[in-house]
Amino acid sequence: MTEWLPPPQYDRTPARAVVEHVLTSDAVNRICHEIGALDQEGNPAPQTYIFKGCTKIIASGWGCEIWRIEDGIVRRHEIGHCNGWPASHPR
Ligand SMILES: [Zn+2]
Repeated sequence: MTEWLPPPQYDRTPARAVVEHVLTSDAVNRICHEIGALDQEGNPAPQTYIFKGCTKIIASGWGCEIWRIEDGIVRRHEIGHCNGWPASHPR
């Protein structure tokens, strides 16, 4: 699972506000599709793609909003996106 962790520069407490929604896997997957979250390569996700979490930068960068399952690795992954880790997941 270590490939899910963000690179060190993104694996830290964000400077922006974080709003987190910890939900069932079905709810997370549905909402992430609804907000148009991208897949692991940073491309539009096909309907068959299953999301464990997704993140949206909100309020012009003041904060970020996370929808995720209850999992510490997924949390660090999504916090990485709050810190600016691009959706294509560069290492
Ligand atoms: Zn990601």
